This record gives sequence, structure tokens and C-alpha cells, in this order.
Amino acid sequence: MTGAPSAPERRLVAANWKMHLLRAEAIAFCRGLGELLPKDAAPAAIFPGFPLLPAVAAELAGSFVAVGAQDIHPDDQGAHTGDVSGPQIADAGATWVLCGHSERRRDHAESDERVGRKVAAAFRNRLSPLLCVGETREERRAGHTFEVLARQLEGALAQGANRSLAASGAPRFALAYEPVWAIGTGEVATPETASEAHVFLRDELSRQLGAAAAGTVPLLYGGSVAPENAPALAVSREVDGFLVGGASLDLGRFLSIISAFGRATT
Ligand code: PEP
Repeated sequence: MTGAPSAPERRLVAANWKMHLLRAEAIAFCRGLGELLPKDAAPAAIFPGFPLLPAVAAELAGSFVAVGAQDIHPDDQGAHTGDVSGPQIADAGATWVLCGHSERRRDHAESDERVGRKVAAAFRNRLSPLLCVGETREERRAGHTFEVLARQLEGALAQGANRSLAASGAPRFALAYEPVWAIGTGEVATPETASEAHVFLRDELSRQLGAAAAGTVPLLYGGSVAPENAPALAVSREVDGFLVGGASLDLGRFLSIISAFGRATT
């Protein structure tokens, strides 16, 4: 389970800013990140709110920090007031997009089928989907964790060409295990709990994409990651990176979390 670190080429530490920060704060964060992030640090990505995308993309252009949107509409255009399409996200300078974050599943009643259509929309627009899956506390207590993870992954890949595109590696496809009971609660999964879920998800990926392709997919852990718990989680070779909410809003804390993965070549 633990021991050797995960494959360096799969590393990714992502910041999910949710509905936080204004433009000046986002720009200051990105400038600080550009100055302080070691050139050989683990690859990072920032997922700001939609209005911040152009400013963040402009600030990070030319750096090795990627930019992503927090959601995408399944359609490329149409009468969907308040939603944002793949072409608009790409036009704003993003290259990644979160699909199926538990807060979207909860607040907008997103089904696995709809998440699958969002993954398809991302691929169609040459955006890399970062798919989020995870069980609620009730589902874990009832012993349904693996069933839920399998269903969410299967649903997200079942649409159209999603499976073959996820296996192709271009654009990239990444997966985040985000137990709902750990998101924003301060109750982080133990390294053993995270590793167990990651081993299961890697096996599921192998079943769905084939072993070779599955081996290239970054598998991130998300849920109350902080500088204090990141090193213990990063030791597991099953954990390729993190999706960080609250702690990513503070530059020093985010940098410290990224450093838990050491240098890009280690
Ligand atoms: C998240 O929003 O994906 C997340 C993991 O949040 P937090 O780190 O605050 O738990």
C-alpha cells in the first residue's frame, strides 16, 4: 500500500477555489505562485470560478500551472441561462474541467448520466476532464462505498466515446476520489482508507480502459487535505496528487501541500 511514491508522470495537485476570491485576489495568488513555486515542483492546476478564468489563465500563461473550470454544460450552445459551455471555457483559456464534483451532484441533482454527458462535452472541446467520485457517510456506513464508486465511474464513462477518449490520453483524463464526508469537514480520510479506495478505482479503470491506459490516469485524493496531513497521504504510491478546496485559498498552505510530492523527478 505505502512505500514507493506514485509515478511522477501522474502527479497533479489541483486547487478548487469554489465560489471564493475576487479578481485582484486571484491575480495576486497567481503572481505569488509564479514566484514561489519551484520549477521542478509537482504539476499544479487552479480551478477558479468562471468569471476569474480569463484573468487566471492570463496570469498563468507560459507557466506549468494549468487552469480549469469547475463545471461544464453538456451542450456546446443553447438556451441554458446561467450555464457555461465547453467552447466558452476553452475560449477563456482553460484546459481542464471538473466533472461531477459532489457539491454539483448535491446542489444541482446531477445524475451519473448527466456527469457522463459533461465528460463527453469536455472531450469534444479538447478539455481534460477531472472526474470526481465519492461516497457519502451513509453510503460508507452501509458498506456501499465500492458499489457507489464503480457506479459513478461507469456512469461517467458510459457516454459515447468517453471510454476510448479517456484511454487515449489526449486530452488527459484524471480521477479524484473525494469522499463526501471528508469535503470541507476537516475529517480527512486516513492514508489506509484513501489507498484502499484508490486501489479499487485503479482496478475499475483497468477494467474499463485496459491496464496500460489505466496506468496513465492521475488518481487524486480530495477531502480536507491540509499541509498537516498531506505528507502522510502523499507517501502512498496509490495517491498521485490532491484536489484541494479550503486549504488552496492560502498560497502558503497550497505551496506546502504541493511540496508533499517533492520534486517532479523524484
Ligand atoms: C473539494 O472541494 O474538492 C475539496 C476537497 O474541499 P476541501 O479540501 O475543502 O475538503
